[in-house]
Amino acid sequence: MSTEIAEPAAPGRDRLHPEPRVEPLIFERSGQGKHGYSLPPLDVPETVAIPKHLLRAEIEGETQVSEVEIARHFTRLSRLNFSIDQGLYPLGSCTMKHNPRLNEEMARLPGFAASHPLAPEEVSQGTLELAWRLERALAELTGLARVTLQPAAGAQGELAGILMVRKALEKTGRPRTTVLIPDSAHGTNPASAHFAGYKVKELKSNAKGTVDLAALEAAMTEDVAALMLTVPNTLGVFEDRILDIARIVHGKGGFLYCDGANFNAFVGVAKPGKMGVDVMHMNLHKTFSTPHGGGGPGSGPVAVAESLVPFLPRPTVEHRSDGRFVLDFDRPESIGRLRTFLGNFGMFVRALSYIASYGNRISEVAQNAVLNANYIRAGLAGVYHLKYDAPTLHEVVFSDKNQTGNGISNMDIAKRLMDYGFHPPTVSFPLIVHGALMIEPTETEGKPGLDAFIHAMREIARECAEDPEIVRGAPHTTPVRRVDEVGAARNLVLRWRP
Ligand SMILES: *Cc1c(COP(=O)(O)O)cnc(C)c1O
Repeated sequence: MSTEIAEPAAPGRDRLHPEPRVEPLIFERSGQGKHGYSLPPLDVPETVAIPKHLLRAEIEGETQVSEVEIARHFTRLSRLNFSIDQGLYPLGSCTMKHNPRLNEEMARLPGFAASHPLAPEEVSQGTLELAWRLERALAELTGLARVTLQPAAGAQGELAGILMVRKALEKTGRPRTTVLIPDSAHGTNPASAHFAGYKVKELKSNAKGTVDLAALEAAMTEDVAALMLTVPNTLGVFEDRILDIARIVHGKGGFLYCDGANFNAFVGVAKPGKMGVDVMHMNLHKTFSTPHGGGGPGSGPVAVAESLVPFLPRPTVEHRSDGRFVLDFDRPESIGRLRTFLGNFGMFVRALSYIASYGNRISEVAQNAVLNANYIRAGLAGVYHLKYDAPTLHEVVFSDKNQTGNGISNMDIAKRLMDYGFHPPTVSFPLIVHGALMIEPTETEGKPGLDAFIHAMREIARECAEDPEIVRGAPHTTPVRRVDEVGAARNLVLRWRP
């Protein structure tokens, strides 16, 4: 990336190594009387006069910039940032995979992009059919009965799922009090259970990092509404005793919730519905390649078994026998609406494109995601420490244990990766691995990218031993160097004031 962002290097400075520059705020570029647009003079009578008291003569600090300045400002900012189109983005658990351009083409088709959410059903048949087809595809892939597409993110999907469990149990007269969550779960799980009105009880993992069946058996009482199980768990390890887990949970009348945000680890290979899962959310913005992390909104559909279908959010999309697609609001046991309209519709188009472009070969997504993670695991084994030696699926969690001797932490290693042109991996998560470096390459990375990443990680390990200062001071090549994270969190400045 070029470090020469705003203006040419000042005379006298080493022109080959100019100081990294930071783009000024758009407000700071503002100058009186500049316009980013021009309108022809009004040539019709001004019929609606805005009342004087509603008009502001002046807006304090109003930004006045030209169109060229705006275009350059945002283009420069985009070049200061790192994106998936620039290089490997191995942020574990986040699944930062390539966003195929075909998906974008489909989402931009005017019939989809310009459809109005309030348009009547007669003129919305195409959009309703697309939602229905995506629901059918997700139901098929999960082996569950039906799917709601409404939730705007994985965490909202979790909330929807647990609210459906609650509704189903309330119907029996006892909503129960507690949700069990393993200590290896994603942090959103306890938050969602709490939001749905449940107490959370943590389950300790065994030495392999999976659910300890004896601990589950002891904790699973008739006060427990559900077990929320992340599959594969945040170590990337598959719960190989899931059938026993389901038996224990169902034996006490509880529901098995599967956090399937990372369904990319086994999509097309195995069906959660066949494993005893009653309810599961997926992240279209992970498994099904829709952009996220600043690239677009999330989408967290929830698939449910037959027993939870009556409680799905309303409206559902139905395919009538005369071929029409309709919205069904007449669902008296529904948990209600979670979000406006159908959900983040543009993401449905992209996800269905991804699913359809694989067709019957969709298991290749999971197979290549697992292959790539294990390639990295093998390439770095012995160099970085692996706390849990269980076989991993789509991601691998190392720790900084072999490197801490020189006062180096996982954060330093992550920052140093930026100098090698990679986005840092997830650090310090999952909490059960101290100094975690959680790496997820995804299926869209080719062998050259993986080799370059392994090489960089090995080089950094060498630097940790031979030249620790360079690692501790990283990054050295980014426009903004090490930031004061504590200061930034304690002393929030979110507003520019004139
Ligand atoms: C990403 C993730 C979530 C949360 O999804 P959001 O869309 O960020 O709300 C939940 N669980 C797991 C396992 C995840 O990886």
